[in-house]
Amino acid sequence: MDEFDYVIVGGGSAGCVLASRLSEDPNLKVCLLEAGGEGRGWGVKIPLGIMFTVPWPFINWGFKTLPQPELDFRRTYQPRGRVLGGSSAINAMIYTRGHASDYDAWGLPGWSYKEVLPYFKRAEGNARLGGEWHGQEGPLPVNDSYTGNPLQQVFLDAARQAGFPQTDDFNGANQEGVGIYQVTQKEGERWSVARAYLHPVLSRPNLKVLTGARARRVLFAGSRASGVEYSRGGRIESVQARREVILCAGAFQSPQLLMLSGIGDAAELKRFGIPVLKHLPAAGEGLQDHLDITLIHRANSADTLGGSPAGVLRLLRDALRFRRERRGMLTTNIAEAGGFLKSDPKLPMPDIQLHFCVAVVHNHGRTLRHLLHGYSLHACALRPRSRGRVSLASADPMAAPAIDPRYLSDAADLDVLKKGFKMARAILDAPAFAPYRRSEMFTAKAQTDAEIEAAIRARAETIYHPAGTCRMGADAGAVVDAELKVKGVEALRVVDASVMPRLIAGNTNAPTVMIAEKAADLLRGTAS
Ligand SMILES: Cc1cc2nc3c(=O)[nH]c(=O)nc-3n(C[C@H](O)[C@H](O)[C@H](O)COP(=O)(O)OP(=O)(O)OC[C@H]3O[C@@H](n4cnc5c(N)ncnc54)[C@H](O)[C@@H]3O)c2cc1C
Repeated sequence: MDEFDYVIVGGGSAGCVLASRLSEDPNLKVCLLEAGGEGRGWGVKIPLGIMFTVPWPFINWGFKTLPQPELDFRRTYQPRGRVLGGSSAINAMIYTRGHASDYDAWGLPGWSYKEVLPYFKRAEGNARLGGEWHGQEGPLPVNDSYTGNPLQQVFLDAARQAGFPQTDDFNGANQEGVGIYQVTQKEGERWSVARAYLHPVLSRPNLKVLTGARARRVLFAGSRASGVEYSRGGRIESVQARREVILCAGAFQSPQLLMLSGIGDAAELKRFGIPVLKHLPAAGEGLQDHLDITLIHRANSADTLGGSPAGVLRLLRDALRFRRERRGMLTTNIAEAGGFLKSDPKLPMPDIQLHFCVAVVHNHGRTLRHLLHGYSLHACALRPRSRGRVSLASADPMAAPAIDPRYLSDAADLDVLKKGFKMARAILDAPAFAPYRRSEMFTAKAQTDAEIEAAIRARAETIYHPAGTCRMGADAGAVVDAELKVKGVEALRVVDASVMPRLIAGNTNAPTVMIAEKAADLLRGTAS
């Protein structure tokens, strides 16, 4: 059996950072296990590849939730990256961090915004913004949009006409306002976290990266994690960890792996015939996600994506432009603009996030309506009160976990979403969109509060930010402590989006990278 100092499970946003940072020390032997492949294909590199990688399960786990009672019992779609880079290889590349107060509200030593800001800055390679709030030398490139799409300005003008403020930095002193999103791209290409942190160091002799290796469970010597059992190419094998095992399998699969390894609610584990190592009922609890409602307009313009002759011609022209100068439509992250707004001016910080998309984004792009020209405006509730859970559907490590976000189980979330819906409509109805607007699809009849509520129940979907299932906390009920160590066992940590005690109010990739940067320092004993 191979032996390493650290065995990392999951080569996603967090796992790539950790594998890269820990293997900087040539005296440490690091092994990274990733269920998917290398993530170097054009579907990952060309930003527009998102049109194929999000809807279809090529490099995507393509999970589904349990039926959601408050969403007309729909089973909603949950894409997650299955490849080195994880979800950062299929995400919309938006670089935001949430609100400073989100981290302060975690209330944990070492995790206030002041304390985590140096880790955001260490990771960030921002081409435009620097100073107090931004890093310019980090491995993760952050750039302004490369598309030059005129619809960005139309959106900004419409938001101004609807009375909303603007900003050119969502991650500076003040989050509030609409603007063009900065993206984790360089030279017009997607820069997944694998590309930023891992691919450049794959030749290190002390780093072993096994792709196509799916972890089945953590192995223990007594209560100490000693290795990982995984399957690869039809064989079951294992690796040994001298120091620690670190789970970076994401908000759905890190808790699943804990449970498969005997850490979870004892009664539930017994029901699946799994020997109980540690009764930790919080494992898998506390699932939070950003639920999102989208308003979509048809448009006649080839500035939006679509399958008309003009749209196809535009794409072909832009394919040549992409080859020449890495600009144009192929660099689109689709959700090119957006913002953070208050549903009530009296609120201390924004509670709604908008994503403005230059395409018809209906059902995650999984229907032929994707071929119509149009634009979409998403509104999500940033601080959901609803809490769900991840649990086992089977004791088979190859089975998907049972994902139950319990969307809208707290009625307060519905109220915020209704306000978000109305704000999005005010922007789309503003004069700036007049030259583009044809008709509102799907939701045109939703005018009264009751109709808007029905539209939300019928149509709301995830905006892809599950977190909180291996909650960090100082209390006995938490899954990991403030150093990300799993409670009640030794030599096992969780480092990914699952440890957020409360979902931050923004997109979750940069915060996950920050968590992993800080975890690397915690493991090296150099954390601030
Ligand atoms: C479609 C989509 C759009 C998004 N858009 C944005 C955006 O624009 N901006 C933003 O900031 N965030 C966005 N996000 C969210 C962000 O990308 C994620 O929050 C972040 O990548 C999570 O990182 P992670 O390390 O927790 O998990 P992941 O990056 O999902 O990594 C988990 C990894 O573990 C692997 N794995 C799982 N189980 C096993 C196992 N048993 N054995 C071995 N390997 C395993 C997976 O294959 C995967 O590679 C988006 C996400 C999606 C899905």
